[in-house]
Amino acid sequence: MAFENLTSRIQTAMKTMSGKGKVSEADLDETLREIRLALLEADVNLKTARNFIKQLREKALGAKVLEGLNPSEQVIKIVNDQLTEMMGEKAVPLNKSTKIPTVIMMAGLQGAGKTTTVAKLANKLKSESNARPLLIAADVYRPAAIEQLKVLGQQLSIPVFDEGTDNDPRKIVQDGLAQADENKNDYVFIDTAGRLQIDEVLMQELKDIEKIAHPDEILLTVDAMTGQNATETAQGFNDALGITGVVLTKLDGDTRGGAALSIREVTGKPIKFVGEGEKVTDLDVFYPDRMASRILG
Ligand code: GDP
Repeated sequence: MAFENLTSRIQTAMKTMSGKGKVSEADLDETLREIRLALLEADVNLKTARNFIKQLREKALGAKVLEGLNPSEQVIKIVNDQLTEMMGEKAVPLNKSTKIPTVIMMAGLQGAGKTTTVAKLANKLKSESNARPLLIAADVYRPAAIEQLKVLGQQLSIPVFDEGTDNDPRKIVQDGLAQADENKNDYVFIDTAGRLQIDEVLMQELKDIEKIAHPDEILLTVDAMTGQNATETAQGFNDALGITGVVLTKLDGDTRGGAALSIREVTGKPIKFVGEGEKVTDLDVFYPDRMASRILG
């Protein structure tokens, strides 16, 4: 899908105005409508887009952009600042426990990139801070998921705890945590089951695992390519489970990434990392200002 870039949209709308001489409040509203449309096309949800525009209007009037020499540049700057601010300004690191191990529970719908992200994050910790993570394979519903995690673990020389697909995931998590204690692993990643959509059985299982594992971090993996659904998914998991952070995957695809803005606004939880490809090194910290530039285009 081709996007008309938000920056040029603002410029075009404001150029038409300056041709008329004085820029009026009605002209500003015309520009705000353009921005709202562009945000929706970039996968920002309706409620977030409305909220964004409301705040933007107040800021633009407060900054007296209509009286300035270069109103479009000013509006672009205010949009950029507000995007960054609403996405949290700064990168937020992983939570860390005061005593080992730090337990990170991964959740997400099937195909979102959860298993891949476990490997990416564990590898990042291992290579950047010599961490000794253990990966627990608790997705017993998709036999290939356990195999996939084991293959990734082998490639990265990171141990994977599994008990096949016959055991209850709650028991697997218990046993895996005992193993981590024994081996003095400093990080434990729990790869939980996904589903095609949120359902109660899955949520109950995740809640049970949470009670057993007391995770320091519940990271939700969300596929940025699912557009508006990405926000609904994040809201669903956050309401049922109470997530602590989000990894937004598949940003190497042709999405503007507006889901990042909506997810942050709707859940109030930070996006901590972004997935930018299938390779194990294709993971980056989430920087709100970079994402703002991407949404602006
Ligand atoms: P899970 O079902 O949530 O565990 O998902 P997987 O980890 O198995 O990933 C599903 C598919 O998405 C696989 O083909 C991954 O290689 C792919 N994938 C995961 N993260 C990314 C990403 O950031 N970019 C791209 N292009 N593909 C990804």
